[in-house]
Amino acid sequence: MAQNGAVDQLSEAEAEAELARLAKEITRANAAYHQQDAPDISDADFDALKARNLAIEARFPHLKRADSPSEQVGASPADGFAKVTHAVRMLSLSNAFDAEDIADFDDRIRRYLGLSDDTPLAFTAEPKIDGLSLSLRYEAGRLVQAATRGDGAVGENVTANARTIDDIPEAIAGAPDVLEVRGEVYMSHADFEALNARQAEAGGKTFANPRNAAAGSLRQLDSSITKSRPLRFFAYAWGEISAPLSETQMGAIERLAELGFHTNSLTRLCDGTAEMLAHYVAIEQQRANLGYDIDGVVYKVNDLELQRRLGFRSTTPRWATAHKFPAELAWTRLEAIDIQVGRTGALSPVARLQPVTVGGVVVSNATLHNEDYIAGLDSKGQSIRDGKDIRVGDWVQVYRAGDVIPKVADVDLSKRAEGAQPYVFPETCPECGSAAIREEGDAVRRCTGGLICPAQAVEKLKHFVSRAAFDIEGLGAKQVEMFYRDDQLPVKEPADIFTLATRDGANLSKLANRDGWGAKSAENLFAAIEDKRRIPFGRLLFALGIRHVGEQASNLIARTYGSWGEFTGAMDAAAAMQGPEWERLLGIDGVGEVMARSLVTAFAQNEERASIDRLTAHLIVEETAAPDTEGSPVAGKTVVFTGTLERMTRAEAKARAEALGAKVSGSVSAKTDLVVAGPGAGSKAKKATDLGIEIIDEDGWLDLIGEA
Ligand code: AMP
Ligand code: ZN
Repeated sequence: MAQNGAVDQLSEAEAEAELARLAKEITRANAAYHQQDAPDISDADFDALKARNLAIEARFPHLKRADSPSEQVGASPADGFAKVTHAVRMLSLSNAFDAEDIADFDDRIRRYLGLSDDTPLAFTAEPKIDGLSLSLRYEAGRLVQAATRGDGAVGENVTANARTIDDIPEAIAGAPDVLEVRGEVYMSHADFEALNARQAEAGGKTFANPRNAAAGSLRQLDSSITKSRPLRFFAYAWGEISAPLSETQMGAIERLAELGFHTNSLTRLCDGTAEMLAHYVAIEQQRANLGYDIDGVVYKVNDLELQRRLGFRSTTPRWATAHKFPAELAWTRLEAIDIQVGRTGALSPVARLQPVTVGGVVVSNATLHNEDYIAGLDSKGQSIRDGKDIRVGDWVQVYRAGDVIPKVADVDLSKRAEGAQPYVFPETCPECGSAAIREEGDAVRRCTGGLICPAQAVEKLKHFVSRAAFDIEGLGAKQVEMFYRDDQLPVKEPADIFTLATRDGANLSKLANRDGWGAKSAENLFAAIEDKRRIPFGRLLFALGIRHVGEQASNLIARTYGSWGEFTGAMDAAAAMQGPEWERLLGIDGVGEVMARSLVTAFAQNEERASIDRLTAHLIVEETAAPDTEGSPVAGKTVVFTGTLERMTRAEAKARAEALGAKVSGSVSAKTDLVVAGPGAGSKAKKATDLGIEIIDEDGWLDLIGEA
């Protein structure tokens, strides 16, 4: 094919066609990269296209197009930006995390300079802006160059882009002849949200946080895109200068402000560590309201002569440090407490927060666990948070650890509004009005509405179609909610899913004709449902969403009873929670009394059972063969997989292990027999080592089970 043919074998006509194709392809790829910030081919592939274009042009110079991609200056992502060698290196900052670190910082400086403990030593304290640093070079008062930090020694030339930022003056009066102003490019929360909304609407890429958005916007090869992005700039430092700005850090900042730069109004001169720490707390408390992200407070020795004497370590100045906020904590206002009703009727209080960035993510909701937690009590009735309760309107501390749902950790009583009332936890379900009761020993209040509670019904349906359950393509949480409220084609319980197609066939108005649907999507949905009529026993049981009965337990039970008929018969026989079938259920390793009760109750002849039977009437439930574990080296062993598996997915590894009669657990305990650790394995592998449990890698595992 001429398209991919060797350049030296192209005919003239083929070359012409190929140049046209390449021009189009490169322009498209460029647009994807620059205008949408969403490159759709790799840099290497892009380079290859450009190289091919150049090679053809070299062979057929007369065919070179007027719009040749080789003539588009500065548009190639692979060529990137021109490099700038910084006259004075752009460094990073050492970190401090608590008062002790700050005392050490002060101490180290005194020792280095030979100052006694009672010699005054002043520092500036200012917010550490979470953006990206930029160095602006002014010569004779005119902006001549802007460069990113890069690796500190060499950055990227982004002058054209910097000129589009309103906060960056093009000309300054009364400055030294050479002045490099350094500071942070950032995006405000409001601008960030508006940008993401615009991007989403245009089908473009959205950004994870304001810092990414700022970096992505500044590092554009087409400055008209940067211009369309709402970037801002705070000046806080300088590089090469032909004459000193001041004798002090504070004076220099003031000078920068006079020259027309934005400097941070929270910059303070502090007499010593006590004042620094006090200012740190003040800044942390205002963090949520600043309207932009900061991740700590920077302290700098105020006397510039001392800064000069202190100098630098390899990558950080000795005269400054960044006092970081605890990674994932922030203070904000609790605006309301909403109650969500879950699949099992649990009433969960959710904190609606004034949006705040916690660890780079904007958080506006957090869990409050349960009513005791709000009241300042733990599950045993002991006081937590020194007994402080949480009230609507309070200043609360939001905490986020990894991917888990953010939590409200603490409350600041000094900021509580006068007249704030203790929160009264509802005793009826906000969704269906049924009584919500707390059983003895249960921390959770639950709606007693059962299937009449719409919230429970919808949550049950969502669970039913979820990934580990029926996993029906095209039928997710959103669609389930829509169908639940639909008059024409209602889905009130799982069984209704399997009559959707027939009911739609009988209806006058068809799903295919609705907004958001078409013939194809309706057809696909019905086919996907049809596809799941045949379902493994374990999946079905898990999908029912019976309280306490998780995925592992469901598979365990399926393996024990083998067939659905055998199982439901056994549940009927165990209904009185006594006798041989009850004992058999309790005898399953992994099924405790609580789970057994919950199971038997669900299958007792009642409405819930009727709903289950209506469902299974539409299904073919696959039997689960008891695993043939004869000769299996891992039968009966408890195995934990951790870290990244490279030759199979977690799900696959787990299924394989279970087929060999192993029990797969998510956490390491004394009961664990074996840990299979891939790269990146962290705390679990460490715990296993501490407990003296055997750890093998993925290859070792495959070896063990005879699949190497
Ligand atoms: P790090 O890269 O985390 O070691 O921190 C150093 C970076 O913090 C600098 O390169 C700046 O981009 C940034 N920074 C933000 N605010 C300030 C500030 N007020 N003073 C100094 N550096 C700051
Ligand atoms: Zn309810």
